[in-house]
Amino acid sequence: MEKKVRTRFAPSPTGFMHIGNLRTALFEYLIAKSGGGDFVLRIEDTDQNRYVEGAEELIYKSLKIAGLKHDEGPDIGGKFGPYVQSLRRERYMEYAKELIDKGKAYYCFCSKERLESLKTENGNEFGGYDRHCRNLKNEEVKKNLSQGLPFVIRQKMPLGGVTTFEDEVFGEVTVENKELEDQILVKADGYPTYNFANVIDDHEMQITDIVRGCEYLSSTPKYNLLYEAFGWEIPRYIHLPLIMGKNPDGTVSKLSKRHGAVSFEDLLNDGYLPEAVINYIVLLGWCPEGNRELFSLEELVKEFSIKRISKSPAVFDYDKLDWFNGEYIRKESTQDFIKHAENYIRQGIGDKNFDIKKIASVLQQRLVKFTQIPDMISFLPDLPEYDKDLFINKKSKTNLENSLSVLKEAKTALENLDKWDFESIHDLILGLAKKMGVKNGTMMWPVRIAVSGQQTTPGGAIEILDILGKDESIKRISYAIEKLS
Ligand code: GLU
Repeated sequence: MEKKVRTRFAPSPTGFMHIGNLRTALFEYLIAKSGGGDFVLRIEDTDQNRYVEGAEELIYKSLKIAGLKHDEGPDIGGKFGPYVQSLRRERYMEYAKELIDKGKAYYCFCSKERLESLKTENGNEFGGYDRHCRNLKNEEVKKNLSQGLPFVIRQKMPLGGVTTFEDEVFGEVTVENKELEDQILVKADGYPTYNFANVIDDHEMQITDIVRGCEYLSSTPKYNLLYEAFGWEIPRYIHLPLIMGKNPDGTVSKLSKRHGAVSFEDLLNDGYLPEAVINYIVLLGWCPEGNRELFSLEELVKEFSIKRISKSPAVFDYDKLDWFNGEYIRKESTQDFIKHAENYIRQGIGDKNFDIKKIASVLQQRLVKFTQIPDMISFLPDLPEYDKDLFINKKSKTNLENSLSVLKEAKTALENLDKWDFESIHDLILGLAKKMGVKNGTMMWPVRIAVSGQQTTPGGAIEILDILGKDESIKRISYAIEKLS
């Protein structure tokens, strides 16, 4: 019987959820769920210097917002717990000692100063630790330990031969063993390094598929040597391609803050919907069969396959993300849209008493990001100062003269309109165009400019009149007439 697929998301609590991390979590979720398996959350906090208060909560919150529900984790438990590495501390030491007994690891007592000097010393062609303590005599080790000398435990790498493994995405990877440093497994503070803890935990937690960024590709042979030393089965590896950002000069480089928001939180604060972000980032390194681009998470579970992960770097395109966000905004129910847009609308209209629902309905059709809203509707509370040349528009066949006469007619008619709602304004304006023998556009353009003071607006003339109300609309039209007279 095939083993149940188990993947794990193993973030370090650094205080924010980088897009790359979120993509890793998403792929791990999809690989587990598309195979009917488990998605495990493990917190990798062995680097206590980097500990950030509240970072764990942020991880739970981000996964929840993203819809990536884990089956086991620190917050919900599970049979392989604890799921926080600092709480598993004792067991790493035991495993490290087992490796020492097997001759695959050793105590190292080198001082910081000695290690520092190695970096500068000529002739350290290896470029790493010079294996000074690798062959210490047993008695010496015992003596040092009994004297309480600080130590680390290092992995004893083979000095010859090669280590090879097969990655599902990158194919066969081979390294010369002599290039592998005798890396530290347990640090002087008794904590394991990531390099050690991830292997122990992945084995103990019965993880079948290791999914992570390709920056770990070159370390994987070291992990495999550990699996072999323990006699454990090596998991399947799925390394994901780099995520790049576009530079102004057209080149690309590793995605960083200078390209734009790089954390999930920042994207949400910038006005993107979580569903849109998830849908967009699944395409960073994976492509579906066919041309379809819009997928819900459930649909992705059905569609996803490891075979279609690419090893070429993916470029994060903020314009494309905008497009996805717009699509998701359009798909929202009116109720959800208002829920998401309301604060931004209130910010835009200040203390004016406009109908939020009406504003929302013109915005939903045109919006790309929620954060655009205050600017887009700033003309509602205050008519901006504008140039009268805005009334000239070729397509609508308007000029300063016919704009003036249209506005005069509109003003009188609107003043006599008793029922101020979309339907009534609509009928009145179109009726007026007919009566004056002008095209609808020739009627609408000057009215819209008069009530908004700007070339482009969310919503047309009628919608804006409806939102502004009778008094304000007529005031603005009168001002335009003055301007044109
Ligand atoms: N803790 C590692 C990180 O945050 C996880 C790497 C892995 O998935 O193995 O980068």
